Amino acid sequence: MAPTKQDIRAALAHIKTPSGRGLGEAGELSEIFVADGKVFFSIACDEADAPVFEPIRARAEAMVKAMPGVQSAAVALTAERKAGSPKPAAPSSQGHAHGHSHTHSHAAHAGQARPPSKPEVPGIAHIIAVASGKGGVGKSTTAVNLALGLVAQGLKVGILDADIYGPSMPRLLGLSGKPRTADGKRMIPMEAWGLKVMSMGFLVEEETPMIWRGPMVMSALTQMLREVEWGILDVLVVDMPPGTGDAQLTMAQQVPLSGAVIVSTPQDLALIDARRGVAMFRKVNVPILGIVENMSYFIAPDTGKRYDIFGHGGAKAEASRISVPFLGEIPLDMMIRENSDAGMPVTAAEPQSPHAMAYRAIAATVAGQLGQGTVKAAPAIIFE
Ligand code: ADP
Repeated sequence: MAPTKQDIRAALAHIKTPSGRGLGEAGELSEIFVADGKVFFSIACDEADAPVFEPIRARAEAMVKAMPGVQSAAVALTAERKAGSPKPAAPSSQGHAHGHSHTHSHAAHAGQARPPSKPEVPGIAHIIAVASGKGGVGKSTTAVNLALGLVAQGLKVGILDADIYGPSMPRLLGLSGKPRTADGKRMIPMEAWGLKVMSMGFLVEEETPMIWRGPMVMSALTQMLREVEWGILDVLVVDMPPGTGDAQLTMAQQVPLSGAVIVSTPQDLALIDARRGVAMFRKVNVPILGIVENMSYFIAPDTGKRYDIFGHGGAKAEASRISVPFLGEIPLDMMIRENSDAGMPVTAAEPQSPHAMAYRAIAATVAGQLGQGTVKAAPAIIFE
């Protein structure tokens, strides 16, 4: 039986911090997340104290790992907040405008806690994010089909499901079970349709409520990025959590991204969120590869008649207005939905369909942008 959060807190209190108190007593611990024998949490400290807290972090990790029922533990050190300052808000999965001061303080602390340069992931040539300003616009569906379109280009491709609030890759790709580990530590990604796949959905049960704090989101993502045997990849597609809150901003900042694809539906409201997505990546100097308009129009299955129910073309107009490439439009189609729900993504399962062609065309444009070197590594970010 895995220990409870309370057991873990009680054990950690035996580790003394420089203040002479037990670890956790001064509120340094984030939420402790326990799932399937895996334990994640973070320790917050002032940036200046990080060198003193690093051995404490290592001890805490070793101690938790040694508890009966614990398979692995990941403990991150963050300079997320100063002692006495209010706790950071839990990351929101909904798109919301981030007020300047809010974003600023988070970004600044995250930046100070870690070096501003983002180490590359060895073996992976390009990492691209697929993002949306809000949920339900078809971001994950687009990410999978874009990844499969890149496979169709002859590229070696992986997909990392960073949508940890609602991981959908297991369902979209018809995968179940757990990834194997190479040496009891590094995970071997699952494989489907020629893609290497990693998702938090493989590691926690679907019913497990996912309550995350910013630092834990990052430590889970870092593990899936850097502690997985991805091998040699031309492109790793990262399915981002929807929204433009602090968690998303931190990810955009910390993952060495070559570029980002923004998915939007044509409605005005969704476009406002897409604009926020573009602004978020621009803020952290990640190039925008382009916007995809999903659920762009509807073809009636009985008559084949086309209906522009959602205001088709909105994303294209917006892309041109804000000077980012428009990558293409995907219709609202039951085949896309049914195939997705059956774990048979349309680009791989129905390669001759017009939808597969549309996704392949989008992938070809993206591959072209990456290959031509029009996308450069983002310059180092300087924090005030
Ligand atoms: P998000 O990742 O933005 O939350 P999903 O990719 O999970 O969105 O898609 C939400 C729902 O919409 C899913 O049921 C999916 O099958 C469906 N969907 C996505 N794109 C399309 C499309 N072009 N046509 C029909 N259904 C779609």
